[in-house]
Amino acid sequence: MLLDQVDDFDIFRPKMDSTKETLHAIATFEADISPAFPYVNAELGGWDYDQTNQVLLLKLSDGKWITLHSQKIAIRGARDLEESHALLEWIKGQINEIYDRRDRITPRYVSQAGLKIMEILKLLPLTNCKLCGYATCMAYAAALREGEISLEACKPLWEGKYREKREKLQAYLQSYGWRALDEF
Ligand code: SF4
Repeated sequence: MLLDQVDDFDIFRPKMDSTKETLHAIATFEADISPAFPYVNAELGGWDYDQTNQVLLLKLSDGKWITLHSQKIAIRGARDLEESHALLEWIKGQINEIYDRRDRITPRYVSQAGLKIMEILKLLPLTNCKLCGYATCMAYAAALREGEISLEACKPLWEGKYREKREKLQAYLQSYGWRALDEF
Protein backbone atom coordinates (compact mmCIF):
# COMPACT_ATOMS: atom_id res chain seq x y z
CA MET A 1 0.00 0.00 0.00
CA LEU A 2 1.53 3.29 -1.13
CA LEU A 3 -0.21 5.53 1.38
CA ASP A 4 -0.83 3.66 4.60
CA GLN A 5 -0.61 6.18 7.39
CA VAL A 6 -1.50 9.85 7.58
CA ASP A 7 0.47 11.49 10.38
CA ASP A 8 -1.49 14.72 10.66
CA PHE A 9 -4.81 16.00 9.32
CA ASP A 10 -5.36 19.68 9.97
CA ILE A 11 -8.84 21.00 9.18
CA PHE A 12 -9.42 24.74 9.31
CA ARG A 13 -11.49 27.65 8.04
CA PRO A 14 -9.38 29.79 5.71
CA LYS A 15 -8.94 33.31 7.11
CA MET A 16 -9.11 34.90 3.67
CA ASP A 17 -12.33 33.12 2.66
CA SER A 18 -15.04 35.74 2.96
CA THR A 19 -17.81 33.16 2.64
CA LYS A 20 -16.54 31.21 5.69
CA GLU A 21 -18.81 28.40 4.59
CA THR A 22 -16.31 25.76 3.60
CA LEU A 23 -13.31 24.10 5.17
CA HIS A 24 -9.79 23.54 4.02
CA ALA A 25 -7.70 20.62 5.20
CA ILE A 26 -4.13 19.41 4.88
CA ALA A 27 -3.00 15.83 5.45
CA THR A 28 0.72 15.12 5.81
CA PHE A 29 2.58 11.82 5.79
CA GLU A 30 6.00 10.27 5.32
CA ALA A 31 5.19 8.20 2.23
CA ASP A 32 6.02 9.63 -1.19
CA ILE A 33 2.85 9.29 -3.28
CA SER A 34 4.21 11.03 -6.40
CA PRO A 35 4.89 7.74 -8.28
CA ALA A 36 1.10 7.30 -8.39
CA PHE A 37 0.41 10.70 -10.00
CA PRO A 38 0.58 9.75 -13.71
CA TYR A 39 -1.79 6.85 -13.03
CA VAL A 40 -4.16 8.86 -10.83
CA ASN A 41 -4.12 11.56 -13.51
CA ALA A 42 -5.06 8.95 -16.11
CA GLU A 43 -7.83 7.40 -14.05
CA LEU A 44 -9.38 10.41 -12.34
CA GLY A 45 -8.79 13.03 -15.03
CA GLY A 46 -6.55 15.46 -13.18
CA TRP A 47 -7.21 19.13 -13.85
CA ASP A 48 -3.54 20.10 -13.80
CA TYR A 49 -0.42 18.02 -13.49
CA ASP A 50 2.91 19.73 -12.82
CA GLN A 51 5.53 17.03 -13.26
CA THR A 52 8.44 19.30 -12.38
CA ASN A 53 7.14 20.05 -8.91
CA GLN A 54 5.09 16.86 -8.58
CA VAL A 55 1.74 18.51 -7.98
CA LEU A 56 -1.52 17.02 -9.25
CA LEU A 57 -4.71 19.03 -8.97
CA LEU A 58 -8.07 17.27 -9.03
CA LYS A 59 -11.22 19.28 -9.46
CA LEU A 60 -14.44 17.90 -8.02
CA SER A 61 -17.98 19.25 -8.20
CA ASP A 62 -19.37 22.08 -6.02
CA GLY A 63 -16.09 24.00 -5.91
CA LYS A 64 -14.13 21.25 -4.20
CA TRP A 65 -10.48 20.70 -5.04
CA ILE A 66 -7.93 18.12 -3.98
CA THR A 67 -4.25 18.86 -4.53
CA LEU A 68 -1.77 16.03 -4.27
CA HIS A 69 1.85 16.77 -3.38
CA SER A 70 4.56 14.18 -2.78
CA GLN A 71 3.98 14.07 0.97
CA LYS A 72 0.88 16.16 1.42
CA ILE A 73 -2.79 16.23 0.37
CA ALA A 74 -4.68 19.52 0.46
CA ILE A 75 -8.47 19.47 0.36
CA ARG A 76 -10.45 22.62 -0.33
CA GLY A 77 -14.15 23.23 -0.14
CA ALA A 78 -15.53 20.54 2.19
CA ARG A 79 -18.87 21.42 3.79
CA ASP A 80 -17.99 20.16 7.25
CA LEU A 81 -15.62 17.95 9.26
CA GLU A 82 -17.37 14.80 8.19
CA GLU A 83 -16.97 15.58 4.51
CA SER A 84 -13.31 16.56 5.04
CA HIS A 85 -12.61 13.11 6.49
CA ALA A 86 -14.69 11.40 3.81
CA LEU A 87 -12.78 13.18 1.04
CA LEU A 88 -9.45 12.20 2.58
CA GLU A 89 -10.51 8.56 2.86
CA TRP A 90 -11.81 8.61 -0.70
CA ILE A 91 -8.62 10.01 -2.24
CA LYS A 92 -6.42 7.73 -0.10
CA GLY A 93 -8.40 4.75 -1.34
CA GLN A 94 -8.16 5.96 -4.95
CA ILE A 95 -4.38 6.49 -4.74
CA ASN A 96 -3.76 3.04 -3.28
CA GLU A 97 -6.19 1.20 -5.53
CA ILE A 98 -4.96 2.89 -8.72
CA TYR A 99 -1.31 2.43 -7.80
CA ASP A 100 -1.90 -1.26 -7.11
CA ARG A 101 -3.09 -1.84 -10.66
CA ARG A 102 -0.67 0.60 -12.36
CA ASP A 103 0.68 -2.17 -14.60
CA ARG A 104 -2.67 -2.15 -16.38
CA ILE A 105 -2.98 1.64 -16.69
CA THR A 106 -1.42 3.84 -19.34
CA PRO A 107 0.08 6.78 -17.42
CA ARG A 108 -0.99 10.25 -18.51
CA TYR A 109 1.28 13.28 -18.31
CA VAL A 110 -1.00 15.87 -19.89
CA SER A 111 -4.03 17.32 -18.13
CA GLN A 112 -7.28 19.10 -18.75
CA ALA A 113 -5.77 22.53 -18.05
CA GLY A 114 -4.00 22.20 -21.39
CA LEU A 115 -7.31 22.41 -23.29
CA LYS A 116 -7.78 25.70 -25.11
CA ILE A 117 -11.22 27.33 -25.27
CA MET A 118 -10.61 28.61 -28.80
CA GLU A 119 -9.73 25.12 -30.03
CA ILE A 120 -12.97 23.80 -28.54
CA LEU A 121 -14.95 26.72 -29.94
CA LYS A 122 -13.91 26.21 -33.52
CA LEU A 123 -15.18 22.61 -33.38
CA LEU A 124 -18.68 23.68 -32.25
CA PRO A 125 -21.55 24.53 -34.67
CA LEU A 126 -21.03 28.25 -33.92
CA THR A 127 -24.69 29.15 -34.30
CA ASN A 128 -25.22 30.56 -30.80
CA CYS A 129 -28.59 28.79 -30.78
CA LYS A 130 -28.70 28.61 -26.93
CA LEU A 131 -30.04 25.03 -26.90
CA CYS A 132 -27.27 24.07 -24.48
CA GLY A 133 -28.49 26.63 -21.97
CA TYR A 134 -25.64 29.05 -22.63
CA ALA A 135 -26.04 32.34 -24.44
CA THR A 136 -23.19 31.68 -26.84
CA CYS A 137 -21.04 28.85 -28.14
CA MET A 138 -18.09 30.63 -26.50
CA ALA A 139 -19.74 30.41 -23.06
CA TYR A 140 -20.49 26.75 -23.64
CA ALA A 141 -16.90 26.11 -24.76
CA ALA A 142 -15.60 27.69 -21.55
CA ALA A 143 -17.95 25.56 -19.41
CA LEU A 144 -17.06 22.42 -21.35
CA ARG A 145 -13.34 23.01 -20.79
CA GLU A 146 -14.03 23.18 -17.05
CA GLY A 147 -15.96 19.91 -17.15
CA GLU A 148 -19.12 21.70 -16.00
CA ILE A 149 -21.26 20.45 -18.88
CA SER A 150 -21.28 17.46 -21.20
CA LEU A 151 -20.78 17.27 -24.93
CA GLU A 152 -24.29 15.86 -25.25
CA ALA A 153 -25.70 19.21 -24.11
CA CYS A 154 -24.85 20.71 -27.50
CA LYS A 155 -27.61 18.89 -29.37
CA PRO A 156 -26.85 20.33 -32.84
CA LEU A 157 -23.34 18.87 -32.62
CA TRP A 158 -24.89 15.40 -32.81
CA GLU A 159 -26.58 16.10 -36.12
CA GLY A 160 -25.07 14.35 -39.13
CA LYS A 161 -23.71 17.51 -40.71
CA TYR A 162 -21.49 18.16 -37.68
CA ARG A 163 -20.19 14.63 -37.35
CA GLU A 164 -16.64 15.47 -38.42
CA LYS A 165 -16.44 18.38 -35.98
CA ARG A 166 -17.87 16.26 -33.18
CA GLU A 167 -15.40 13.46 -33.72
CA LYS A 168 -12.49 15.89 -33.80
CA LEU A 169 -13.74 17.55 -30.62
CA GLN A 170 -14.17 14.19 -28.86
CA ALA A 171 -10.62 13.22 -29.84
CA TYR A 172 -9.28 16.61 -28.72
CA LEU A 173 -10.98 16.38 -25.31
CA GLN A 174 -9.88 12.79 -24.86
CA SER A 175 -6.25 13.62 -25.64
CA TYR A 176 -6.18 15.85 -22.55
CA GLY A 177 -8.08 13.44 -20.32
CA TRP A 178 -11.23 15.57 -20.25
CA ARG A 179 -14.05 14.42 -18.00
CA ALA A 180 -17.17 15.95 -16.52
CA LEU A 181 -16.90 16.94 -12.88
CA ASP A 182 -17.69 14.10 -10.50
CA GLU A 183 -20.33 14.39 -7.89
CA PHE A 184 -18.96 13.53 -4.49
S1 SF4 B 1 -26.17 24.27 -28.34
FE1 SF4 B 1 -24.18 24.14 -29.38
S2 SF4 B 1 -24.42 25.41 -31.18
FE2 SF4 B 1 -26.05 25.98 -29.77
S3 SF4 B 1 -25.19 27.68 -28.52
FE3 SF4 B 1 -24.81 25.80 -27.41
S4 SF4 B 1 -22.74 25.24 -28.07
FE4 SF4 B 1 -23.49 26.68 -29.59
